[in-house]
Amino acid sequence: MPTMIRRPPTIVCYICGREYGTKSISIHEPQCLKKWHNENNLLPKELRRPEPKKPEVRTITAKGFYDLDALNEAAWTSAQSQLVPCNVCGRTFLPDRLIVHQRSCKPKASK
Ligand SMILES: [Zn+2]
Ligand SMILES: [Zn+2]
Repeated sequence: MPTMIRRPPTIVCYICGREYGTKSISIHEPQCLKKWHNENNLLPKELRRPEPKKPEVRTITAKGFYDLDALNEAAWTSAQSQLVPCNVCGRTFLPDRLIVHQRSCKPKASK
């Protein structure tokens, strides 16, 4: 029997962009979405975002499995769209990080 090193499949959370095991993602997702709503509600109006949508990827590989790569890529893109650019330096952050960042990010030509 050939020995194959198989990495356990991981699923990217479409909300936070972190990777989870196929079992823990179903536990994590509702919690992550709840947390997302809590955080979103605390943000100033201009930083609030529309609720992230779970990407619909229906690609099935030849072996009959979901195409995890396509799914994860879509989820990652979705998580990235949650990032907000800093209006000073243009770097992107999660809104809660942006607030922290903007305390120290000052325009160069400040008064
Ligand atoms: Zn998450
Ligand atoms: Zn900045």
